[in-house]
Parts: sequence; C-alpha cells; structure tokens
Amino acid sequence: MKNNSVSIVSLGCAKNLVDSERILGELGVSGFDISFNSEESEFVVINTCAFLKSARDEAEEIISEFVEKKKIGKVKKIVVAGCYPALEGHMLLSKFPEIDALIGTNNIGDVVKAIKNNRSSISRVPERYLYPRIKATLPHYEYLKIADGCNHRCSFCIIPKIKGRTHSFQKEDLVKEAQSLADSGVKELIVIAQDITQYGIDIYGKVELVSLLKSLDKVKGLSWIRLLYTYPSNAMLDLIDYIKDSEHIVPYIDIPIQHVSDKILRNMKRATSKKDIEFIFNSLKKSNIAIRTSVIVGFPHETGDDFRELKQFVSSYETDHLGVFEYSNEEKSGSFSFNEQVPDSVKKERLEAVLEVRDLNAARRGERLLGKELPVIVDYYDNGIKRFVGRTIYDAPEIDDVVYLTGKLNSGTICNAKIVEAYPYELVAKVKNGVR
Ligand code: SF4
Repeated sequence: MKNNSVSIVSLGCAKNLVDSERILGELGVSGFDISFNSEESEFVVINTCAFLKSARDEAEEIISEFVEKKKIGKVKKIVVAGCYPALEGHMLLSKFPEIDALIGTNNIGDVVKAIKNNRSSISRVPERYLYPRIKATLPHYEYLKIADGCNHRCSFCIIPKIKGRTHSFQKEDLVKEAQSLADSGVKELIVIAQDITQYGIDIYGKVELVSLLKSLDKVKGLSWIRLLYTYPSNAMLDLIDYIKDSEHIVPYIDIPIQHVSDKILRNMKRATSKKDIEFIFNSLKKSNIAIRTSVIVGFPHETGDDFRELKQFVSSYETDHLGVFEYSNEEKSGSFSFNEQVPDSVKKERLEAVLEVRDLNAARRGERLLGKELPVIVDYYDNGIKRFVGRTIYDAPEIDDVVYLTGKLNSGTICNAKIVEAYPYELVAKVKNGVR
C-alpha cells in the first residue's frame, strides 16, 4: 500500500467519468498520490451511479468489496461519491458504517475534506467551477461536460431528483478547457450533458448550444467534435443546420427517443410526438448525419399495438446505432405508481424482438458501408488479434462499432480507410492515405 495514495472506481455514464477525472484532479493538486490501481492505494473513492436499481445494486456490490478489504487492512479509507449519495443522502452510512465519508454530485471540491477529516457533504447547489482533471480516457479523445441536471420530467426517469435542474458551465471556461485538452493531445472532443440542447438556458436565459459549438469549432488542434445526449426538441433543427456547416463537428448525433407511440410518449411526459421525431429523423437522414438513438420497451400501458409501432419505426428508420432497454420501475419515478405494469416475461420478449431488428439494421449498415472510403480514428493496438482497433467518423467510443486496421499506425491517428469487409458491429478497413 503506497502512502497517501488514492484511486477511484468510476461507475455509470460519461458524465460521471468527467466528475471522476475532476475528483482525481482535485486530489492531485492537493498533494495526494494518484493511483490507477485500487489494490495498492491507501484511500479509495467510489463514484457511483444510481438512476436504475441495477446501478445501485452494482454500487453496493463494489462498496461491499472495499468494506471487506478495509476489514483486513487492504484499504484505509472509503469515500462514496456521486449519484447514490446525492439520491439517498446518509442512508448509505447506516447501511455501510465502514464508509468514512460521502460526497454528492455537487461536492467535488469537498473530496479532500472527506478523506482527511471523514467529513461528508451532499449539496443541492450546483458547482460551476471546472476543477482540474486527470484523464482516464485514451489520450486522443475526451468528454466535455457542458452542463448537468435536467429540466425535463420524463416520468420513468429519476435523474432530475439526483442532479436537479439544468445547470450549465460558462462558455469561456468550457472553451478554455477544450483548448487545454487539445493542447494535451485530444483530437476528438465529445460534448455531453443530460440534454445538451438545454445548454445555457439557466445562465443565458436561452439555449446557447450553437453559439458554444461555434467557439469550440475554433479551438486549435481538435479534429473531431462529437455530440451526445440530445433531445428531440425544436432546438434540433438549428443544430442540424450548424452541423452541416461546421468544420469539426462530425456528421453524427445521439438522440434518445425512448418511444414513438404518441400515447406512450404522453405517459412518459416526453415533450415530443411521433410526427416531431419523424421530422427530425428525416432532416438528419437528408443531411447524411448518422443517428444513434435508444428506446424503452415495456413501459406501463404499452400494448402489443404500441410495441409493434415502435418496432416498425426502428426497422424502417434503420438508425446506425440503437440502445434498447427494458422499462425499470423505479420507486422514485413518476411512473412507479402507474397501474397496468407490463409483465417481465413480455418485456423480455419485446426486448429480444427489437434486438433482432437491431442486428438486421447492423448487418444492412455494414453492407451500405462496404467499399466506402471513410475517415477513421485509431484507438489502440490489440495484441490478441494483431490489429489496430479504431472507429469510423460515424462511431462514438465505447458504445458504437469498431474498425480493424493494419499498417504503420498509432493510437490517435486519423486516416482515410476503405471498408473491405463488413460484419454486424465490426468492419475491416484498408488504410488509403492522408494519415494525420
Ligand atoms: S431528458 Fe428525460 S430521460 Fe433524459 S435525463 Fe432528462 S428527465 Fe431523464
């Protein structure tokens, strides 16, 4: 065990990963020895996710593991951070008395006190300061969290209860951070929030996403800017126009729709309709912008007809990437008390059915890309298969498809490559020219 060393276990989404990098950054500038190996560190911070029961169960499993390690002296202090303390407050301390301190999602600045003085802090007041970061992603790509919290009130979602209303970071601070990331070798900047199309509404009184993107487009050294977590609202149309003219924003959008049946969208309290979604998807397709979306099956009151409507939609729109989730009846969500819950067996059937459509879409996507020459970024070399693994401009890291390449390449290289083989979710390409 290295003295004064601390490591972090980062659970959940990319927004949590950014918070984990900031927690490490704050500890690093406060004199702690940062370790990426929890086996050797004196202190551990577990940055939790809590928006689904399965995520809370995972967090409790990890906490239990470290409680056992603490009992045999393999770790001195356990700090639990993030969404679980933010949602459940001090409940975790009574459930796991071995935990030394808790910090919420708005308390990154309090992590030092948490470790040094076992002082817990869970505040509802958003932090607006961009703490220094210690990178935990591959050198050439990084997430830029432009805001957190959410003003929507989707009935199945408890994130607003965890993170509060939308709170954006100042444009100047974000551009400065983007420039320092680019200076440190980041080529692909991935813009995230709970819903990036709400950016600025709290601090500028109106949506300022396109204005922020115009500034990010001028950041020197960035090659690609990728947009995740949008919402099918009117703000999408300006965004699509700007993506078409932008120099660095890649032709890719992540836009979770959750469902397309108007009855279900109303019950989900989604501020959109099937007609709106179709209009946005048609605009994206006309602009050759790749679409990642996600849907929920088995929401209360979902009939066979509602489900067939959803299945038909994902089949006919053949999005590039599709996340499919079974409805999880979350105790603190608005839809928890809805009667006519869909039986688990039916949820499973519907999940399987949509996954089959997704596999077909993935195979057809491969056929569409076969023979095409595309910009590809190289992520790493896989010793097992003796090939480089990368992604096309239409694929986000960690969640989308991969490309296998051979040749004199390096991690972070962006090159043009011809797709010579295509399989569902995997492509093989031959590097053409213009390695950069
Ligand atoms: S948009 Fe809806 S699903 Fe997404 S974080 Fe906000 S409330 Fe949750």
